[in-house]
Amino acid sequence: MIITNIFAGTIERIRQEQQINFMAYYDTLTGLPNRTLFKDRLRQAISLAERTSKMIAVIFMDLDSFKSINDTMGHEVGDEVIIKVSRKLSESFRKSDTVSRFSGDEFLIMVNNLESTEDIYKIADKVINTFREPFIVHSQKIYVSASFGVAVYPFDGKDADTLIRNADIAMYEAKSRGKSQYSLCTDDMKEEIVFKHELSNKLYRAVENNELILYYQPLVVAKTGEIRCMEALVRWYLPDYGMIAPNMFIPLAEQSGLIVPIGEWVLKTACKQVKAWLDMGLPPIQISVNVSVIQLRNPDFVATVERVLKETGLNAKQLNLEITESAAVKESDNILSTLKKLRKLGIEISIDDFGTEYSSLSRLNHMPVNRIKIDRSFINNLFKSEKDQALVRGMIHLSQTLGLRVVAEGVERKEQLEFLRKLGCDEIQGYYISYPIPADDVLKLFKHMDIVMRRQARK
Ligand code: C2E
Ligand code: CA
Ligand code: CA
Repeated sequence: MIITNIFAGTIERIRQEQQINFMAYYDTLTGLPNRTLFKDRLRQAISLAERTSKMIAVIFMDLDSFKSINDTMGHEVGDEVIIKVSRKLSESFRKSDTVSRFSGDEFLIMVNNLESTEDIYKIADKVINTFREPFIVHSQKIYVSASFGVAVYPFDGKDADTLIRNADIAMYEAKSRGKSQYSLCTDDMKEEIVFKHELSNKLYRAVENNELILYYQPLVVAKTGEIRCMEALVRWYLPDYGMIAPNMFIPLAEQSGLIVPIGEWVLKTACKQVKAWLDMGLPPIQISVNVSVIQLRNPDFVATVERVLKETGLNAKQLNLEITESAAVKESDNILSTLKKLRKLGIEISIDDFGTEYSSLSRLNHMPVNRIKIDRSFINNLFKSEKDQALVRGMIHLSQTLGLRVVAEGVERKEQLEFLRKLGCDEIQGYYISYPIPADDVLKLFKHMDIVMRRQARK
C-alpha cells in the first residue's frame, strides 16, 4: 500500500515536471516552441553553422490586421485562426526547422542548412503559399495574410538576438509597404536605421541648441499674384550633417513625441515673425503653420495656441493651421472638437495634401475648414493624366460649391498656373512663384512682387 502510494506520488511529480517543462518551452495554445526554446535552438544551429559554413534564415512573421479578426469575430475564432496558421506553417517546413510562436500573432521561423541565397527566396515562397487558401474556422472561410522579414546568418547577425531583431526590423519595413509583403534585411536598411536612431537622439537637443530654422513659402492669389499667406516650413541644421529636410525628421519627432515642443517652437517663431513683418508695414498676410496629428491630440493644444497668440500679439485672423487630410479624416471625432475651438478663436484651418486619402469632399462640409490644398502629385500629373485633370477640376468645382477656398500646391510651370487660373483655383503655391526662403529674403520677395504687380497693372 505504502509502496503504491510512493509510486503514484513519483508519477505525479514526473507529470508535473513535464508540464512545467512544457509550459517553460512551449506555447500552450498552439503547442509550438516558444521564444525561449526558439532562441536555444537558434544558438545551437549557429554553433553548428560556424563549423559547416551553412546559412540560417530567421523569419519574423506577423499576421496582417489580426486585431480586426479578434474584434469582429471574437477571440475564440482568433485563437482558432492562430492554431490553424501554426499547423499549416509547421507542415510546410522540415522537422529540422523550427516554427515558433513569438507572441500574440507573431511567429518566428528558423530554417537551417541553407546552401545559397537562392534558397532564401524559396523559403519566402513557402511562407507566402501558407496563406494562399483561406483558413476554415467553424465552417467559415477566413482570409488571412501575413507580412514578414528575413534575416540571414552570418550576414545580418552572428548571434540569436541580433538576428531576431534584424528580422523584426525587416518585417516592419515590409509592413510599411502594405499587407502581404516581405523584406530581406539589407545593409542599406540597417544603415538607415542606425542613421535615424542617431538623428532621433540628436533631435532631443535641437530646440535648445537653436538648430531649427523656419523657411517661408508664399501662397498667392491666382488671379492677381498678390501674396496672401506665408507657409512656415521647418528645417533642421545639424552642424556635422548639414540641412535636414522635414520629411526626414518630422516622422521621428512624431514617434518620440518631440513634435509637441518642436511644433510649439515653430508656431511661436512663425507668429512672432509675421507680427514683425506686419509691424514693418507689409500687407496683412496670414501665416500658415503645419500641425501634426500628435499635436492635435494633445489636450493642451488649443491653450498653447491661445497663449502663443497672446505672447506674440498676433491677431487670430492672421493665423492659419494646416492639418493633413489623413488626420482630418481618420480621427474626426476628437479632432473635430479641437478644430471647432480653434475656429471659434478666429483661426483659419486648411486641409493639406488633399486628394491623397480619397475622402469625400462632402464630408469636409461638416468640418470647420476654410481651405483645401490640392496635393502636389495632382498638379504634377495635370498634363500627364486625364484622370488627375478631371479630379482637379472636380475638386475645385466642388470645394467652391461648399464655400471652401482652393489652393494648388507644387505649381512649377506657367502652363499649370494658367490652367488652374482658368479652372477658377483661388490660390497658388509652388516653385514657379517662389521656393521656400529664409525670413531675411521675404522682404526682398515682397519688393519684387510689388514691382511685378505694378508693372502688370500698367499694361
Ligand atoms: P507640405 O506641408 O505639403 O509642404 C510643401 C512641401 O512641398 C515643402 O517641402 C515644399 O518645399 C515643397 N514644395 C513647394 N512647392 C513645390 C513645388 O513646386 N514642387 C515641388 N516638388 N515641391 C514643392 P518641405 O519644406 O521639405 O516640407 C515637407 C513636409 O514636411 C511638409 O509638406 C510638411 O508636411 C512637413 N513639415 C514642414 N514643416 C513642418 C512643421 O513645422 N510641422 C509639421 N508637423 N510638419 C512640417
Ligand atoms: Ca503644408
Ligand atoms: Ca501639402
